Amino acid sequence: MSFPFCEVPNTATILCKHIARGEKRILYVSHDEDDGMWQFLCNEEHTIEDLMLVTLKQAYELDPSIGEIKDLPLGNEAWRENPQMPWRS
Ligand SMILES: [Zn+2]
Repeated sequence: MSFPFCEVPNTATILCKHIARGEKRILYVSHDEDDGMWQFLCNEEHTIEDLMLVTLKQAYELDPSIGEIKDLPLGNEAWRENPQMPWRS
């Protein structure tokens, strides 16, 4: 599988446990302005305990559709109502 992001594959990335457990799909993406961190979350409410660190490659392998927003600029967010809908930002 090719890796579309310009970051290196082992870049630390925030993922919620709902997605990691396969219960939910990625519906919200943030590319943080201050530290360049990617966050991949579902549409649940999240506390800090719901979040975990994975590599960008692991997130991509869980849901390759995040490759569609690989060029999301720093400080921007993208979301979609469900995995069949296009990303909006
Ligand atoms: Zn979640």
